[in-house]
Amino acid sequence: MKERSHSLVSFSTYLNKGFALRRHAAQMSDARTDPEISPASVFLALLHAFVFRLPSFQQLDAELGHSYLQHWIGAERPFRDDTLRYSLCGFDLQPLERMLVDLNRRLKRSKAFDPGRVQGHLVAALDGIEVLSSFSRHCENCLERRVTRKDAAGRKVEETQYYHRAVGCQMIHSPVKSFLALEWLRPGEGEETAALRLLSRLPRLYGSRFFDILLLDALYAQSPVLDLLQQTGWQAVISLKQNSRDLYQSAVGLFAHRTPDATFTEQRGHKTYRVQLWDTGDSEALPFTLDNPEPVRVVRSEEVLERHQYRQGKLTTTETDQEWLWITALPAQAFPAAVVRRLGHDRWKNENNGWMVLSQHWAFKHGFLHACRHRPQRTNPSGERELVPNQGLPAVALILLIAFNLCSAFVLRHSKLARRDHLTAIAVAAQLHRCISKAPPSLRAPT
Ligand SMILES: [Zn+2]
Repeated sequence: MKERSHSLVSFSTYLNKGFALRRHAAQMSDARTDPEISPASVFLALLHAFVFRLPSFQQLDAELGHSYLQHWIGAERPFRDDTLRYSLCGFDLQPLERMLVDLNRRLKRSKAFDPGRVQGHLVAALDGIEVLSSFSRHCENCLERRVTRKDAAGRKVEETQYYHRAVGCQMIHSPVKSFLALEWLRPGEGEETAALRLLSRLPRLYGSRFFDILLLDALYAQSPVLDLLQQTGWQAVISLKQNSRDLYQSAVGLFAHRTPDATFTEQRGHKTYRVQLWDTGDSEALPFTLDNPEPVRVVRSEEVLERHQYRQGKLTTTETDQEWLWITALPAQAFPAAVVRRLGHDRWKNENNGWMVLSQHWAFKHGFLHACRHRPQRTNPSGERELVPNQGLPAVALILLIAFNLCSAFVLRHSKLARRDHLTAIAVAAQLHRCISKAPPSLRAPT
């Protein structure tokens, strides 16, 4: 008989056999003493919520009434979302990060990252993402900024806005676009500081050969980043904007009086790009800055984007001029300007921006656990009782990345149905979820 829909058993087996889910779950720990509901059950419950895209934690609360789910997460009784909160606020991040790393290593070993290699190379990108913002609720890890907004009477008022921001690293060349790691900005620091911390942590987590090329935006066109890249041996393609003034101007000056090194037209859906490329190649590489005269190769693209659209029954064409510059140390022979341009653009493609996917389809922007004061206490060195540091947001984010990676891998590599019927990840999740709802709910014990 043909496989008609996804069974939860096959998904569960996939997670246990392929990714040692149970073994990792058993490693989870939190700050509670002698809890009745284990950290493993809390982790599995939240993983369940993310995998099946439950719209709220109240929904998870309701599903915890199913004996099926209790059995799957290894809990002897149902529990409420306050147990989840209390556990997650003091969750130990290390076992979560170890699981994320192990999962990615397994994906690499099973050749999940082989399709889509660029000239045989594996490509990752660094991106910043803002996770939540609030004018009222804030915690000790919040970042702050002054924002002007209108009050109820329409008057402009300036207020302090609190928010959280992180820099993440994601594989982007292959259909399985796995997240590798996440680094949170600390109060008062800039994104490049967190990025440098992430870049120095990545080789420790994965080894420096886990990927070959890193795509970075103009914010990271800075000497400390270039130095670090040189140490680790990663190649990079970095956008160049006018904030790197000297280099930008010398490149534009150099290219101004010569014909393009390549000219071509590219068709993508209803868009046509007419592209002209200039390239310093390796021989004419320009000094990065006055202080750091390390020569870098610069590629410049002048593009006319034509959009063909039907408006009121008539085909109309609109044209936009675009200019792009990138710096790289990739050798010109193996990576001609057109390949550097493609890599540069890959970073901006919507389907390559997993963070956007997370905030649109995975409810990554909710403020769950933010500024939560319901958390375990510990005794500090001076003998006083204090709340443990709030790990809620980073813990939830890591569990979300684990769920996202596992689901993308399952859907793209192991689900015959997704391939045969072109099912989306959301449709597969819905199918799997229906298997659970078929199980009768057990009666909830009175609380
Ligand atoms: Zn906060």
